[in-house]
Formats: sequence, structure tokens, C-alpha cells
Amino acid sequence: MKYEGLLERINWLIRLRWIAVTGVILTVFVVQKIVRLSLPFFPLYLISILIGLYNLLFFLYVRHIRKKQLPDIETRTNVIANLQIALDLFALTSLIHFSGGIENPFIFYFIFHMIIASILLSRRASFLQATFAACFFILMVGLEYFNILDHYCLKGFVVNDLYMNKVYIFGTSFAFITTLYLAAYMASSISIRLKDREKSLKEANLLLEEKDRIKSEYVLRVTHDIKEHISAIQSCIEPVAEGMLGELNSGQKDLIRRAGERTSKLIFFIKALLDITRIKLSKDIEMKEFSLVKTAESAIILVDPKAKAKGISISRHINIGIGLIKGAQVYVEETIANLLANSVKYTPRGGKVEITIEDKDNLVLIQISDNGIGIPKNELPNIFNEFYRATNAKELERDGTGLGLSMAKQVVERHHGRIWVDSEEGKGSIFSIMLPKKQSLL
Ligand code: ADP
Repeated sequence: MKYEGLLERINWLIRLRWIAVTGVILTVFVVQKIVRLSLPFFPLYLISILIGLYNLLFFLYVRHIRKKQLPDIETRTNVIANLQIALDLFALTSLIHFSGGIENPFIFYFIFHMIIASILLSRRASFLQATFAACFFILMVGLEYFNILDHYCLKGFVVNDLYMNKVYIFGTSFAFITTLYLAAYMASSISIRLKDREKSLKEANLLLEEKDRIKSEYVLRVTHDIKEHISAIQSCIEPVAEGMLGELNSGQKDLIRRAGERTSKLIFFIKALLDITRIKLSKDIEMKEFSLVKTAESAIILVDPKAKAKGISISRHINIGIGLIKGAQVYVEETIANLLANSVKYTPRGGKVEITIEDKDNLVLIQISDNGIGIPKNELPNIFNEFYRATNAKELERDGTGLGLSMAKQVVERHHGRIWVDSEEGKGSIFSIMLPKKQSLL
């Protein structure tokens, strides 16, 4: 939504203001204690504290409207953005007034506010803020000139009381005001261009997503058709291989065995492709509460026979105190089983595979590690891409779909979690998954 971007930027401004307040207090302190200029320090500190206070109020208010999602949130967001900048301009004018007025070289700090206004607001609104700044400035200079407000001279920094010098006042005000408008114009031009670019990138992204969806639908349909035919071929091969249609000679047996093996592998690949395409196309997956501990145990049972056959024992460090978590149990079990199966597959005989599950407050951390072949460093960034298989894995194990990890990534992302790998070639790998316990907390 449109206001979301603005809220983000307002938060950025609030963070920036904390830095600015600290900077102002430090500068005033240095001027007071080290440079030893004589200025009214009390109002300077007071203004800094007031800036900090209204920043805190804005921080709390933004959090409140974000949480409540009020119907007029867009209007409120715009008002806050405008109000914040106007308050900042007023605060800066007050700081400048108490520290030399027109003689203070920091008057050009108004430019920063013009840049910020142009990033946050429309061009019209940023020109309005430039007008505010110009008015505050002229008012300050005028009131000081006519002695309605006291002037605090920067003694030791400027030679004479420049604030009474008409030529200086006119020259500086002219330079200052034109700079304000030019800065607002330039920054808003850049900002408009960037916003346009952002919009077109978003549109392009939506288009790509749509194309991806069409491609996935196509893959789903074709793969489904292929699966039916392959299953039919498999059901023809089986009776022949089992000798139900007569005894085969050894050459025939060998050929039919190889045809059977290839068909099984193809069916496995097609099933993986169908699974990943289905999850990609499904808008929502059904989330229910389930026991992660039991799910991990079931996944281990699935992989155990293969591990035992390779002399690998799967050691477990599972925090059994983890309660129920919310998610799609079948997918989570498949993901854990997939990672365990990979560890077994890519670890030499007698190696070690370990599963750890830890409680991290609202999150759970699942880690599957092994001391197997590892993944070459330069191939790590591609490892979760569809069909990607690392070179060392292909050398060790010819069969593989390259779909398991991208399926795992899809599942984890659907649960609003994170999956990553740490690995060193020849030493082993650690696959980690961080999942939120309750999807409603997001
Ligand atoms: P597959 O195992 O079928 O090739 P995956 O998508 O499951 O496909 O894995 C992708 C690639 O990631 C593997 O081909 C392999 O290069 C690498 N990989 C995954 N798990 C491990 C592991 N535990 N140790 C080493 N490499 C791994």
C-alpha cells in the first residue's frame, strides 16, 4: 500500500532525528566547554530535549497507527510527515536564533530538511515546506533586526554584529532562500524519478510473477500427463520383470530391470517436480498446530534404513520441551526428511549425521549437520536454485533431481521462516531452518 512506503520513510526520519538530537547536544556541549563561546546554553539544551520528546511521541504514534490499521491511516501518515518536517524547521530556526541568528554558518542545515521533505512528500508539499523555512528565517532575522527578539552574537566567531548589516542580511537571505527552493526542486526531481522507477520495477515484478505462474501451470499440466504415461509404462514393465508373462533370458531380464529402474527414477523426479510446482501455485497452505518433536522423529524413521545401510547413525539433540508449532505438518516432515536424506546421501560410509532442534522463544531452530563431502564455496549461492546440483555431488552420486532444496526453501518461506547453509568442501555441511512457532505472531 502507498502509505506503507511513507511510514517506512517516516520511521527512517525518526531514527535520523535521534542521531541529530545527539549531534546537537554534543555540539552545544563542545561549544560551551571547549570553544567557550558565550551563548544562552539553557535554551539550546532545552530545544534539543524538546526535539527528543516530540520524536518519542512520533515514534509511539507511528507504532500505534501501524498496529491499529485505522481506516484513515493514509491521511494520518501524510499529516505526520508534514508536521514532523514543519516542527523540525521551527526547532532548527530556534536553535539558530539562540546561537547567532543570521551569523550562524549552520543556517545551511535547512538544506537537509528540504532534501528530507522532497523524499517524504510531494513536490508541492516540499515547496510549501521551503516556504515555511523561508518564512521562519525571515521572521527570525526581522525580529532580531528590529530588536523585538534578542540577538545572541557569536562573539569570537564573527567580527561585527552582522545581523544589523542590511547588505549582509539581504545577500545572505537571498542566497539562503534561493538555495532552499533550488534544493527542494532538485531533490524532489530526483525523488520523483526514483519513485517512478520503483513503481515500474514493482509492475515489472508483478508481470514476472504472473508469467511465472503461467509457466508453473503449464509445467503442472505437462508433468501430470507425463506421469500418467510413465505410470502406465511401469505397470506394463512390472509383470514382465516378475516373469508373469513367461520366463526371460538373462539379456531380456537385464534390459527389463534397467527399464524398470529408469522408470522408477523418472517417476520420482516427476513427483518432486509436481510437488514443488503445486506448492508454488497454491496461494495458501493449510496451517495447523502439530508437534515438531514427533514430526522430526517420523522424518528420522523415514531416513533411518538408508543411513543404517551406510553405517551412519543419526544422532539427535532435540529439545523435547518445544510445544506445538503452527504449520503444514506434512511439508515440514518432508523438508526435514529431505535434508536428512541429503546428509546421508552426501556423507561417506561410517560418517556422522546429526539433527538438533532448539527453542528460541517465538522461533525454533532446526539444524541438520554432517561430516560429508560439503559444498564448494563458489557453488553455495546456487544451492537452493531449482535443478542445481554441485559438481562434487554429481561426481559422487549420478542420480539426483536438484529439486529437494528448492522445495525445502519454498516450504520454509511459506512458513515465514528462513533456511540457510554453512558448508566447507570436504568437511561437511550444516543446514539450518528457523521457523516461527505461531504464524499468527507475524
Ligand atoms: P539432489 O540431492 O537431488 O541433487 P537437492 O536439491 O536436494 O538435490 O540438493 C541440491 C544440491 O545441494 C545437491 O546436488 C548437492 O550438491 C547439494 N547438497 C545438498 N545437501 C547436501 C549435503 N548434506 N552435503 C553436501 N551437498 C549437499
